Amino acid sequence: MKPILPGSTLGVLGSGQLGRMFAIAARQMGYRVHTFSPDEDTPTGQVADKEIIAPYDDLDAVRDFARGVSVVTFEFENVPAATAEAAAGHAPVRPSGDVLHTTQHRLREKEFLSKHGFPVTPYRAVRSASDLEKTRKELGHPAILKTAAFGYDGKGQTKIESDSKSPVEWFDDSEHVYEAFVDFEREVSVVAARGLDGSFAHWGVIANDHVNHILDLSVAPADVPPNVVKEAVEIARGILEQLDVVGVLCVEFFLTKSGKLLVNELAPRPHNSGHLTIDASITSQFEQQLRAVCGLPLGDTRLHRPAAMAQILGDLWQNGEPDWSAALADSTIKLHLYGKSDSRAGRKMGHFTALGETAADAAKAVLAARDRASAVRLR
Ligand code: AMP
Repeated sequence: MKPILPGSTLGVLGSGQLGRMFAIAARQMGYRVHTFSPDEDTPTGQVADKEIIAPYDDLDAVRDFARGVSVVTFEFENVPAATAEAAAGHAPVRPSGDVLHTTQHRLREKEFLSKHGFPVTPYRAVRSASDLEKTRKELGHPAILKTAAFGYDGKGQTKIESDSKSPVEWFDDSEHVYEAFVDFEREVSVVAARGLDGSFAHWGVIANDHVNHILDLSVAPADVPPNVVKEAVEIARGILEQLDVVGVLCVEFFLTKSGKLLVNELAPRPHNSGHLTIDASITSQFEQQLRAVCGLPLGDTRLHRPAAMAQILGDLWQNGEPDWSAALADSTIKLHLYGKSDSRAGRKMGHFTALGETAADAAKAVLAARDRASAVRLR
């Protein structure tokens, strides 16, 4: 199959920061970008050639959009399956709608993973309050109850302890996953890519800290033993192959206190934990997504140096505009802002990246930069 070459137009379903950073990589390589979402003046739209504003279920608009581009990719996984299908009638969709279908639903994702022998925390499907009572007895506590669809950043999740109230009062009968709580040592991820020809690339293991279920700090390379790196990368390779992914996919893991890896979640697209690859790696996760979906050879993923990324949330604006010059007083700090004007608490507004002699140095530098951005105004 012929590669899609610079000068062509690429379509992005979704219009957030992931699409924006993809569009920047695409522009840099001489491609044009069209983005499709229900919103206007979006992070992706601000840097795209064309921002198409229509609901995802307006399938005529989706078909028009797909006719105008050489390939369609997506930047968030909650695009309805029918949208991906309508687009696929007019342009290749990469990764495919099947990948989307599996990964946008926690239960389907868990079933896929366990069916193929990838390690996951014990779980059960729960569809009614009586199911839940039965499962509580079977799997025990503590546990986390997650909605099967539309969950991210801890949304739709409830921790259940042995003394938690009977769920009959609050449980709605939508589909849920009940999973054993993992008392993990740390959370890590592997961001990986698979080309149209089946080639595979990855950025090693990245260590992630979450605050209120939202990724706060990523550090690469993660300080984990070589056998854990090898195993995590092999699991990621297996998942991308089994799912027949063309593009970037992130595997999020729990690393247990006994050194065992459990897959928590898949994201079939570039991921927050891979943002540091923009500044730290020969090929960023966004350029890699472009190369993969265009059928180009994958790029080298080696890191120039150890690196860290600190997320900037809307909370940083609580006392007014953050002090960017104070943050940038360390000349090694890189600032990425996503072009969002409404700085709600918890909303991802941007991130800082730093490279360092060691990953710990880089982490210290990004955290200090973020503190400086907020500290001056608090005095
Ligand atoms: P998720 O939306 O599934 O990625 O969950 C968001 C965060 O909640 C994870 O990154 C973990 O910090 C925490 N979490 C989710 N599931 C579990 C679990 N089974 N055990 C312990 N912590 C969890």
